[in-house]
Amino acid sequence: MAGRRALVTGGASGIGLAAVRRLLADGADVVSVDRCPPESGERACPYLTADVTVAADVTDAVHAAAALLGGPADLLVNAAGIYRIRPLLDLTPGEWDEMLAVNLRGTFLAGQAFAGGLVAAGQPGAIVNIGSTAALVADASEPTAHYNASKAGVVALTRQMAAEWAPYGIRANVVCPGVIDTPMLRLMDDPAAGQAYLETGVPLRRLGSAAEVAAVIVFLGSADASYLTAAVIPVDGGSTAI
Ligand code: NDP
Repeated sequence: MAGRRALVTGGASGIGLAAVRRLLADGADVVSVDRCPPESGERACPYLTADVTVAADVTDAVHAAAALLGGPADLLVNAAGIYRIRPLLDLTPGEWDEMLAVNLRGTFLAGQAFAGGLVAAGQPGAIVNIGSTAALVADASEPTAHYNASKAGVVALTRQMAAEWAPYGIRANVVCPGVIDTPMLRLMDDPAAGQAYLETGVPLRRLGSAAEVAAVIVFLGSADASYLTAAVIPVDGGSTAI
């Protein structure tokens, strides 16, 4: 990834942070964007604070990243996201709106600002969005309809980005992680239920690591994936197959 300029949202934690680390290790220049600064021990690259639901924040961050990187970023990783459990009958309109705002609107805003900069500069690039297996399968024991809908939206949005921006040399793909060991995981159900799920619902019978997702993200952003666009790639230990 030497010579590549990457912008990672949600780069202070979990999968986004793992992507930052892997991109840096592979030689890219990276700027991380998150709602809060990373912990001091995790400040491996320049970082910006922005709320991905706020259009002006996102536009400012994309411009500031271009200044830090010496040109417009040519890889965008959209990893900022939230997760909440709420049975569908109890879900409030406000909870629905918050979820869609961060996970779907945030992905749209960052993608549009990123692609706009590349198109204006006449340069190619790649987008890797983070969906979820929750976009692909339902689970009554994990009631997250608003999360699932937001991630299904990310899948559809990614395909449309790929279709509309291919003429500009911009590829867009979406990674759909299964159950990955990040701070977000602590928001999920109780440990015993989690262990039972791993044994019956995941052929590889273990959690995934953020680094394992980051490896796929960086592949999709690299020249090795030059003929891949509009792909929906589960990174889930096989859970969507059974
Ligand atoms: P983390 O909570 O570790 O990281 C998400 C980061 O996004 C946090 O730093 C969070 O900040 C930030 N963020 C949240 N809202 C905003 C916002 N409005 N503006 C800017 N940054 C924001 O979670 P993961 O790394 O696990 O998740 C990364 C992505 O992967 C998410 O899209 C998630 O849905 C997806 N995913 C995760 C799975 C898992 O099992 N972990 C499975 C499937 C998909 P803060 O901490 O302040 O909220």
